[in-house]
Amino acid sequence: MKPFKMASREYRESDTIIEIKTAAQPVIIGEGYCTIIAGPCAVECRESYIEMAKLLQAAGAHILRGGLFKPRTSPYSFKGLGSPGIDIIREARRVTGLPVATEIMDVRDLDVLYETTDILQVGSRNMQNFSLLQEMGKLDKPVLLKRGLSATIEEWLLAAEYILNGGNDKVILCERGIRTFETYTRNTVDIGAVPLIKHLSHLPIMVDPSHATGKWYMVAPVARAAIAAGADGIMVEVHQDPDKALSDGKQSLTPENFRKTIKELEDLAQLGKKQFGGFSNGKSN
Ligand code: PEP
Ligand code: MN
Repeated sequence: MKPFKMASREYRESDTIIEIKTAAQPVIIGEGYCTIIAGPCAVECRESYIEMAKLLQAAGAHILRGGLFKPRTSPYSFKGLGSPGIDIIREARRVTGLPVATEIMDVRDLDVLYETTDILQVGSRNMQNFSLLQEMGKLDKPVLLKRGLSATIEEWLLAAEYILNGGNDKVILCERGIRTFETYTRNTVDIGAVPLIKHLSHLPIMVDPSHATGKWYMVAPVARAAIAAGADGIMVEVHQDPDKALSDGKQSLTPENFRKTIKELEDLAQLGKKQFGGFSNGKSN
């Protein structure tokens, strides 16, 4: 057996399909579906987040994102609104009916995040925070596990193994680029990771073209490449006014560019016979 036992295809031949219940039809992440998570890097204020949530819903996004706890390289950068921002996420979720994904950096925030969050994101910098992974393993909630800045595929799958082994089988992998010698891009996107993960593992894999490139004009082409390579969806950053964003403005799409991009991804999903939006359409899995 592979070192990552429960994450491997040998352990489970059929693809893991993750269903997120909403008041309307469930949103699904996994093989055969193409699901779009979109939103600003960080929740900056109530007005802009609620406006963005409505814009994204109208554009066809399936899941909202928005960080309250931001892992910033410098302690002087905007680190997110923290727990006071939870009511904003709660409102966005209520107003749109869309599920929400947000990052958990510290197990001490679990109480605050658990109830209002549909997907808990473990960020790149925490991919090997083993105590956090172990806590995620105890939950019955989808966990989006981003690839570490310099993590090999095996290290990444072993990080997923911590969650699976703890009893939580709802793990979504997310490729977000790795650090290489190249400096023109923020990271080097590893599209090859998509078919490789599909071969090695039954877990769903998404791609984040925003952090993977660091440049807004690379986001749509890389998102298309990811879906063409077989990714189960995309996580993308969108901001009303990227130049004024408190974090990651350079890689954020405007709402207009997001609308264009999601149309392209829908066409690609159709071409690949993937159900766009991950909506089940009454099909059982
Ligand atoms: C994010 O998605 O907001 C984020 C910080 O990404 P990463 O952990 O991939 O850097
Ligand atoms: Mn970001």
